Amino acid sequence: MEAAKAKDEEHYRDELSNVDKKGKRLWIFPKKPKGGYYKARSIVAWALMALMFAGPFLKWHGHPLLLFNVLERKFILFGFPFWPQDFKIFAVATLVGIVFIVLFTVVWGRVFCGWVCPQTIFMEMLFRKIEYWIDGDWKQQQKLQAMPWNGEKIRKRTLKHTLFFILSFVISNTFLAYIIGIDELSLLVTDGPLNHLGSFFALIMFTGVFYFVFAWFRELVCIIVCPYGRLQGVMLDKKSVVVTYDHVRGEPRGKINKKEAQENLGDCIDCNLCVNVCPTGIDIRNGVQLECINCTACIDACDEVMVKIDRPKSLIRYDTVEGVEKGEKWKLSGRSIAYSSVLVLLIAVLTFFIVTRDDVESIIVRTYGTTYEYQGKDKISNLYNVEFLNKTFKNKEITLKLENNDHDEIELVIIGGQQFVAPPGEQSKGTIMIIIPLDEIESNRFTVPIGVYVDGDKIETFEAGFVAPVID
Ligand code: SF4
Ligand code: SF4
Repeated sequence: MEAAKAKDEEHYRDELSNVDKKGKRLWIFPKKPKGGYYKARSIVAWALMALMFAGPFLKWHGHPLLLFNVLERKFILFGFPFWPQDFKIFAVATLVGIVFIVLFTVVWGRVFCGWVCPQTIFMEMLFRKIEYWIDGDWKQQQKLQAMPWNGEKIRKRTLKHTLFFILSFVISNTFLAYIIGIDELSLLVTDGPLNHLGSFFALIMFTGVFYFVFAWFRELVCIIVCPYGRLQGVMLDKKSVVVTYDHVRGEPRGKINKKEAQENLGDCIDCNLCVNVCPTGIDIRNGVQLECINCTACIDACDEVMVKIDRPKSLIRYDTVEGVEKGEKWKLSGRSIAYSSVLVLLIAVLTFFIVTRDDVESIIVRTYGTTYEYQGKDKISNLYNVEFLNKTFKNKEITLKLENNDHDEIELVIIGGQQFVAPPGEQSKGTIMIIIPLDEIESNRFTVPIGVYVDGDKIETFEAGFVAPVID
């Protein structure tokens, strides 16, 4: 009996809120949210959208502030160019990203999903608002959905989907501008799509994907597709801060008008408002669920109810499951501090790599398969391959100088020139020869220090291995 009851209470874990028993999609019509959290989320969302849409137009010294050109492997972060050769930095940055996501989620749950995720922001703050504006609130939307195709429905659907398509087109332009740069994207307009077929097809494809996602797929992205959402089950625990229902205070729930039994009831009056506003269609009173994107709409809805019935707010709130069960206030735990310390350490390592990163990366190695050569009877030479990668946006002049060569007894000859010029983002290669008088040589293997100077400033000293004949 107990087992059957428990199974019945847990039934929501075996089914999706937006799919019926036959597997058919149930369209969700969330009630328009309002309240303090919604206002705060709107401010954050508009600020982030302003940043995102302005991003491709922001430049630093004539170059985009942010660029993620995976096709040509060009990356610009806050005006600084990064190349695939900056592997070390990318590796640590990826590690920071992963650790950040995991640790942040373990401590703060899905705050990212509700406040920062582009899917939530575009869906709830742009597309959904257009829908409320054209179709009305949830009840009118349900009515419109059920009504046969008449003049009103055709007009509203045409207007809504036209606006959805235009918005998807604008978002995909912005998205593409982050990949190929705003200048390249402008050429699509000035030269015509036929001259930039690749970019044009990418634009059409992105527009189609965004339109599909925001007009139809919607919450299914969070529930079915998003890997971050799928990982919640293993990352969250009882100490994670999530949007949660205080079942200790709220249960047993019951309608407020049952006056006789009122003293035995909890604070939840079973009004269902928290369910009606939920964009993923779940009932937060069932506990933490994979579908919950922590959008806070149910907090606002319940707070409004609590104010109306003169009970304390925060029956649904940000809290830990443990906090609700024990009735304790959330405080920073040792675990959170330890996790955050690891993250701070990784960020420090990343910052160190970025700050100490040279404008030019250089390699000097003895030419493969060669050994020493006599230059006349009294001098020995070794041949070296040199490579320079210019990681900046400007041409760089690179000079090589022998260090500790006060009496000019050792010669450095650049084959075919005096210095190297590395174009922006490209490699410059060449060959050099080091010639040493025999009477300066004391062993058959030693190193010669070569200074690498970029635009007159020394960036590093290479110890180039030198081989010579065995001296008796
Ligand atoms: S909004 Fe609050 S009172 Fe109403 S059903 Fe949800 S938890 Fe209960
Ligand atoms: S349960 Fe609440 S916080 Fe979670 S998605 Fe639904 S409305 Fe948003």
